Amino acid sequence: MRAGLYVHVPFCPRKCGYCDFYSLVPDSSMTGPLVDALVAELNQVADAAAIHVETIFVGGGTPTSLPCEDLMRLMRTLGDIAGRDRVVEFTVEANPGTLDIQRAEILRSHGVTRVSIGAQSFDADELERLDRIHRPDQIALSAEIVRQTGFEHFSLDLIFGIPGQTPVSWQRSLESAIGLGPDHLACYGLTYEPGTPLYERLRRGEVTAADEDLEASLYEQGIAYLARVGFEQYEISNFARPGARCLHNLLYWQNQPTVGVGPSAVSYVAGTRRRNVPDWAEYVRRVRAELSPVSESETLGERARAGETAMLMLRLVEGIDRGRFRTATGFDPHELFGGVIEQHVATGLLEKDGERIALTTRGRLVADRVMADFLLPESKEGG
Ligand code: SF4
Repeated sequence: MRAGLYVHVPFCPRKCGYCDFYSLVPDSSMTGPLVDALVAELNQVADAAAIHVETIFVGGGTPTSLPCEDLMRLMRTLGDIAGRDRVVEFTVEANPGTLDIQRAEILRSHGVTRVSIGAQSFDADELERLDRIHRPDQIALSAEIVRQTGFEHFSLDLIFGIPGQTPVSWQRSLESAIGLGPDHLACYGLTYEPGTPLYERLRRGEVTAADEDLEASLYEQGIAYLARVGFEQYEISNFARPGARCLHNLLYWQNQPTVGVGPSAVSYVAGTRRRNVPDWAEYVRRVRAELSPVSESETLGERARAGETAMLMLRLVEGIDRGRFRTATGFDPHELFGGVIEQHVATGLLEKDGERIALTTRGRLVADRVMADFLLPESKEGG
């Protein structure tokens, strides 16, 4: 079975105010045991002969904040898997301020093909409002290190809708990003997740969120500018030069099998979703004791799987391909979702032809709301 492999490194030098990923600031005694456990779990995955790893994505957290010797051990194990299975893409996330030449060479020498840099903004005040550790000039330095080290692909992440951001500062960030020569760009709208410090600041009135109209116009500004400079939008938040789409994320959006390794990582294989325990110390304890690190498991029925597949495919600009959907799920999308499709076509949020159902540009602005209507609860199973 082909699968994407995701490895979660849950450590960062500082916690960003908007972040709701499982990550924390480690002390120096924590990284070694964590990497030992990651290597042990990876060896189990590698021994599972039924899985053929097609892509690798190491994220977090900040993988490049690991001490060099720990990063080296993790990369050696992943490099072996990449060589054995001839993976087609091997991505590592790197944050400015943590990527130096030594770490870049460790990645490159173990087969990493693609580096994804969390730039987020090129405006010093905006970066500060996000609690990022880096300054704008460190993004350029990271890009230069990536270029010199010779990775095949290089992506940058940007955020729009940051408090205080204007169309002018957003345009500067977009142009600065393109000026560094990436072949892929991800542009996410800032979200205020309950439980994060930024959410609390919003609640206390210490920050003002961008209003919906401004956020929509920043998104459209980004789409128009990136099209002008030769980047195709292929997913709600992702843009690439021809041939540079992220293959790992495409597997995910097509609801293909993915294996997650590390604390809080999620696997999705044969309709069953498993989540590793979201606690690094408990994760290490379980792996050391040769116990399963899985703390949650859910097996989806056929209709619920079809609903999720529809929702994920809608994230892609080409949308739901009727034939591919039928092959993947056994259902025709019009039979399952006829009413929902007609309703959203009538309001201009979806478009369809005989073989394809996709979000319109306006639909992409409210994608979460539209996609939620495609989730089929288990209670409707068989009904
Ligand atoms: S660097 Fe990324 S993972 Fe780490 S705290 Fe910031 S947003 Fe979260």
